Amino acid sequence: MPPPISDPADPTDPTDPTDPAAVPPRGTLARRALTRRCPLCGARRIFRHWFTMLPRCPGCGLRFQREAGHWSGDLGINTIVSFGTLLVVLLGTSLLTYPNIDAGKLLVACAATAIGVPVLFYPFSKTIWLAFDLAVNPLRPGELGDADGDGDRGSDEQDSGEVR
Ligand SMILES: [Zn+2]
Repeated sequence: MPPPISDPADPTDPTDPTDPAAVPPRGTLARRALTRRCPLCGARRIFRHWFTMLPRCPGCGLRFQREAGHWSGDLGINTIVSFGTLLVVLLGTSLLTYPNIDAGKLLVACAATAIGVPVLFYPFSKTIWLAFDLAVNPLRPGELGDADGDGDRGSDEQDSGEVR
C-alpha cells in the first residue's frame, strides 16, 4: 500500500499524495502537531500511551525519530513552555494578589504548574518538534517506511537513530 501523504479529510491540503518527498505547508504541519497527529499525514493514534510515541506513523510510515538525537528538540520546547507558564503563573498571581500575596497558595500554584505542564504538554512537544523539523528538514528519499513497522522495532527509545 503506498503511503498516504495527504490528509483526505482536509480539502485545503494541497499535498500531492503521489510525491513521496512532499511535506505539507507549515500551517498544516502546525495544526496537525497541535492536535497530536502525525504532522506529515494527519494520522491519529501515533502514541501508544501518553508518554510513548510509536516508532513509525501508522498512516504514512514516517520514522518519528528522524536521526540520532532528534528528541532533544522536543525537550527544549517542553522546557520553554513549562518555564514560560511557570513565569506567567508566578508573576500573574503575585500581581493580582499584591500586596496581600499568600506565599502558601503561590507555592502550591507554582508547584502544580511545574509538575502538571511538562506532563500535559509532553506529547504535544513531540509532535510540534516533529512538525518544525519537517518544515526545515524536508523528507529524504527512503525516510518513509512501512506503516506497520512498529511491531518488530520496539519503542522509539530502542531505535538506533539511523535513517533508512
Ligand atoms: Zn504519518
